[in-house]
Amino acid sequence: MQTGNKRWAWDEKGISTSSRILLPQPAPGVCIGYNQFMGDHAHKPPGRIPQAAYILRNYVLTRRKPFLASFKLTYRCNLRCRQCPFYTMSAPELSYGDACRIIDRLYERGNRLLMFEGGEPMLWRDGELRVRDLVAYARRRFFSVGMTTNGTLPLDAPTDVLWVSVDGLRETHNALRCAPIFDQVIANARASTHPRLFAHVTVNAINAEEVPALLAFLDGIFRGITVQFYYPYDHKDELFLDFDRRERLLEEVIRMKRAGTHILNSIPALQALKRNHWTCSDWLIDNANPDGRMQQGCYLRGRADIDCSRCGFSPHTEVSLACRGNPRAIQAGMRIFL
Ligand code: SF4
Repeated sequence: MQTGNKRWAWDEKGISTSSRILLPQPAPGVCIGYNQFMGDHAHKPPGRIPQAAYILRNYVLTRRKPFLASFKLTYRCNLRCRQCPFYTMSAPELSYGDACRIIDRLYERGNRLLMFEGGEPMLWRDGELRVRDLVAYARRRFFSVGMTTNGTLPLDAPTDVLWVSVDGLRETHNALRCAPIFDQVIANARASTHPRLFAHVTVNAINAEEVPALLAFLDGIFRGITVQFYYPYDHKDELFLDFDRRERLLEEVIRMKRAGTHILNSIPALQALKRNHWTCSDWLIDNANPDGRMQQGCYLRGRADIDCSRCGFSPHTEVSLACRGNPRAIQAGMRIFL
């Protein structure tokens, strides 16, 4: 696989304690609720034509700006999942002003899709302010604002897209997440009225066998499902699914998609992931961390060792194919985000 890792190796210290510029903040103790915030800062998404013009100018005619930003708001989490390294990390909690400044910087750098994640992003708070206040702030400018959550808290974030991680049926999910949360997560999903509530399944060596059954189960609850593959952080290979099994499973996932299961990955991306036969345009990605560090490139940059031969990050596959003009990857992205 080819990647852009070396060409785009630069880091940026986004926030330092000596350079904090705080945006206007509410008086202490005053809560900016979602409705009030949206009244003050109404969501004015760019229309389709300005969106298309921006993409044409920056990603077809020239190729230099990141487009998709992942912003880890906090490393704090209420779970201790086997497959996740991030809850072991720590950083001071971002203030509302610093988080807004990072959001602004990500926008100025070219990003138009913003994903909040963690840790568990719904745990973030600054006084009375909650993640929904940051979502409302970001939605003023970005084409689409999303979030990935473990689904244990009420799914009421006013994002454009909301992903819930589900990694197995009850027993498997609870074993991987090291807590008996499956029933609560599914109950929260059933209770949610979010128009783009998607399930995100990370396939590994433990859950692979039941993924087809899981996709069929989730299809009746969520409005769509995305699939990616576990990456062996810290060389934790016991969860890594070998490529023969990965290929067989992807054949089945493609068959299910063709049969009507609401799998949102494009078929070209699913095909490419079988043996990682795709060219990664990792310059399309920006990452921001709770300590204010921003980095352009692979999701793993500055977070873990990068081994492209073991990659399973389907969002990178999709955005890389879309950048090269693959119509079904473009269609998949539009269906998810726009
Ligand atoms: S997303 Fe995957 S292929 Fe791209 S740089 Fe990262 S590990 Fe490599």
